[in-house]
Amino acid sequence: MLKQETFKPENYYILVVDDISINLKLLKVVLEPIGYRLMFAKGGYQAIERVKASKPDLILLDLMMPEMDGLEVCKLLKSDPEYAEIPIIFITASNEEKHIVNAFELGAVDYINKPFKTAELFARVRNHLLLKHTIEKLKSTQIDLEKALAEVQKLANTDALTGVSNRRSLFDFGHQEFDRASRYGKALSILLMDLDNFKKINDNYGHQIGDKALCALVKIIKNTIRNVDFLGRYGGEEFMAILPGIYGEEAFILAERVRKKISSNIIETDKGNLPLTISIGVSTYSTKDKNLEDIILRADQAVYEAKQQGRNKCCSIYSNFK
Ligand code: GH3
Ligand code: MG
Ligand code: MG
Repeated sequence: MLKQETFKPENYYILVVDDISINLKLLKVVLEPIGYRLMFAKGGYQAIERVKASKPDLILLDLMMPEMDGLEVCKLLKSDPEYAEIPIIFITASNEEKHIVNAFELGAVDYINKPFKTAELFARVRNHLLLKHTIEKLKSTQIDLEKALAEVQKLANTDALTGVSNRRSLFDFGHQEFDRASRYGKALSILLMDLDNFKKINDNYGHQIGDKALCALVKIIKNTIRNVDFLGRYGGEEFMAILPGIYGEEAFILAERVRKKISSNIIETDKGNLPLTISIGVSTYSTKDKNLEDIILRADQAVYEAKQQGRNKCCSIYSNFK
């Protein structure tokens, strides 16, 4: 809910435009004592100059002026996004319907006849200033809400410890890429990466160092895979990279690069250096796959195989349907 604020005329700049000095004076005499801050222009060109120089909150615009009339001023300002939001109230002696219709068509918010009634002028000016202020507040609230929503969405998709995508977001991306692969016959591969003997690392070095190891691991993987690849936390110490556009052999080369980088990296801890190794299962989309889970299943089997072979290994199962 927007808070109801007290209306303070001194917060608003009004530009008064009229080619006749006495009219400008008249408006000055009635509006200034209320507290409004006023600027004056004696014609259309000067009005445009003033608007560009100090962007008023509202314009009281005479309709009939020599050189450039009020309708022309209005048209010009409404065509410029920078000034289009400034409310324009026409003040004119003209009673012609054509003029009134024209003014509204060009974007004026209101129309007051001369000689004006002071109370009516006050009410209309105040209403349009309040309306403009409310619209601005709504817009800025909307921007704040959109920012907050984006932040919440980001948090909802992110793993709090490592900052990579969480399982849900990983599967969202995976399902989308599976659809693309199955619909258009595009290549798609998966790396399932499982830290070796992580339980022992936690037991020997403590959970905190374990967390640090997970973050270090993520950093290395992120620096090794391509920008188009999608990395997410699949489970506790298991991460998955979804690699669109590449087949198994190429994915295997990437997996080997990741594995080697991790095994050659050392994490320094109070309890000495901590070496890390990882087992990676590689699998790739086959036309017989019904869903993403079919590809993941093979990646999982390949991880199992890598563990069986002694860990710090990459294994691949490209298809169960040979
Ligand atoms: P293997 O080589 O066969 O994969 O053995 P492992 O010890 O890595 O596998 P296991 O599944 O037995 O143990 C995984 C461990 O990962 C147990 C769990 O406490 C730990 N773990 C899971 N998530 C986190 C986490 O966020 N932080 C830390 N520090 N440890 C975690
Ligand atoms: Mg595991
Ligand atoms: Mg493990």
